[in-house]
Amino acid sequence: MQKGRIGVTTDNIFPVIKKFLYSDQEIFLREVISNAVDATQKLKTLASVGEFKEELGDLSIRVSLNSKNKTLTVSDRGIGMTAEEIDKYINQIAFSGAEEFLEKYKTDANAIIGHFGLGFYSTFMVSSRVEIVTKSWKEGSKAVRWSCDGSPEYELEEVEKDDRGTDIILYIDNKDYLKEEKINELLNKYCKFLPIPIIFGKKKEWKDGKYQETDQDNQINETEPTWTKKPGKLKEEDYLKFYKDLYPFSEDPLFHIHLNVDYPFHLTGILYFPKIKNSIEIQRNKIQLYCNQVYVTDSVEGIVPNFLTLLHGVIDSPDIPLNVSRSYLQHDDNVKKISNHITKKVGDRLKKIFKDDRKQFEEKWDDLKIFIQYGILTEEKFWDYAKEFSLMQNIDGKYFTYEEYQTLIKEEQTDKDGQLIYLYASDKESQYAYIETAGNAGYDVLLMNGELDVPLMQHLEQKFEKSRFVRVDSDVIENLIQKKDREQLNLSEEEKESLKKLFSEQLPAMDKVRFELQLDALGENSLPIVLTQNEFMRRMQDMSGLQPGLSFYADMPVSYSMVLNTEHKLIKELIGKELDEKNKNTVNQLIDLALLSNGMLKGESLIKFIKRSCELI
Ligand code: ADP
Repeated sequence: MQKGRIGVTTDNIFPVIKKFLYSDQEIFLREVISNAVDATQKLKTLASVGEFKEELGDLSIRVSLNSKNKTLTVSDRGIGMTAEEIDKYINQIAFSGAEEFLEKYKTDANAIIGHFGLGFYSTFMVSSRVEIVTKSWKEGSKAVRWSCDGSPEYELEEVEKDDRGTDIILYIDNKDYLKEEKINELLNKYCKFLPIPIIFGKKKEWKDGKYQETDQDNQINETEPTWTKKPGKLKEEDYLKFYKDLYPFSEDPLFHIHLNVDYPFHLTGILYFPKIKNSIEIQRNKIQLYCNQVYVTDSVEGIVPNFLTLLHGVIDSPDIPLNVSRSYLQHDDNVKKISNHITKKVGDRLKKIFKDDRKQFEEKWDDLKIFIQYGILTEEKFWDYAKEFSLMQNIDGKYFTYEEYQTLIKEEQTDKDGQLIYLYASDKESQYAYIETAGNAGYDVLLMNGELDVPLMQHLEQKFEKSRFVRVDSDVIENLIQKKDREQLNLSEEEKESLKKLFSEQLPAMDKVRFELQLDALGENSLPIVLTQNEFMRRMQDMSGLQPGLSFYADMPVSYSMVLNTEHKLIKELIGKELDEKNKNTVNQLIDLALLSNGMLKGESLIKFIKRSCELI
């Protein structure tokens, strides 16, 4: 028997591994099994080029638990290792600058393991002893057993082994990993799509009131997952089925994109557009990242653009460097290329669906909208695609591209300064009166009631030249789109003052609401009083919920302009009048009607209004 010391330059790496990687312990199984897969694939390659001439036979990798010996064993029939190879690949591990690196990335097991090629040694996170029993494929090889208890000393001896390949035997010291359910869970998480069959025990069947083992192998994985197949060979159902395999509880997706790149990097995968209804947050981190069919993570931030983290599906690429920390990823050239490529694919796909089948696109718009708007807001490169298919919906339910809508309103809705005014409503019901007034003036009104509509219009105002979005209730119709300079009111200062005085004494007192009186000649057929809300202030308040920096606006009172229409008969009659009982009733009645048409008359004020109305009748 040979004894030796593992070639580490730091005194003892194992305590470090145990300590730092504790949170990510479970990846040891992924590491051991992917080594077994690699060894098996290497043998297949040797066979295909004629170097290995014997029968390949069953190449399945078998995982087994022995609760008596407290071992977990992974056995493959791959290339195996000779004693020299063990010495070279297992005993010699170089840890230059190890401590510094570990300190920096201590919370990121993938980075550490990738950096040092430490895959195999991650087994010491969960084992008190690890054995390798292996026999090389090379003719005349002797089988050897390597054994190590986590100190830098190892033992190496010749043993008997019939078959080529490797058994990795872990003497588990963390009880969790001796449980069948736990191993099942990990195999399903990390190994579900590996290219070589992974067998764990026997299939079970429900028989005589309990689950019983059959004599069939329990294969964990699908060796040819959908994303590895040629798009031309797949049908719509196949994509749907794969989606259901990945997310059994989700609604059917809207569309899919099959990614398949060979140059300048390797990338395959399938991305799905899920139905995004309301909240963005809960949808995140559903994309699974694989490296040659080995599951790595479901946190793809930094690898795909932010808005694409809303998509579901699988990305498989050996070119995404996993041995660096996440914050470092953004600066990696390959990652940038990959991220741009995915943005382009998504943009092109949406463009194609829009062009080929606009009807379908419009039908799905409500589900797609958040995704596309989020992309416009956060990914500059996406704008070039999205500007062609991002839609606006007007109050009548018609959809327009940005360009189509501009053409539609250009004639009527350009103001005296050449600004194009986009009128919008955020609620069809409560802003009904304003929508109607705008309609009567020959204007079109957009419906902007989505979660991201307010920040989007802010963004579009910067993208489009000389354009403004104005909510229909933010001013009286004459001022929403000013066509010419307004004439002065033909009232004397005293008349104005007296009118304002009558009303200012009767203004309603409401919590966190302020009213400011204004006079304007709105025509005898318009309403006597119109309540408006300044666009800028209201928009800031709308946005304050989304952007913490604006929370200052959220605490400010909501401020309304109460515009008295000096051309309306009822207002005209009040000019120069005293506030006697009769006039007071009229003023209150007019104010209440204005509040009522804005849905702001409630509780006690509403009852008072009803009583007063009855008396007046
Ligand atoms: P990496 O896989 O990143 O090279 P590991 O520490 O996981 O690093 O493995 C070190 C080396 O040990 C592998 O590159 C391979 O040569 C050898 N090895 C590990 N497991 C096996 C196995 N099951 N069969 C054959 N060789 C193996």
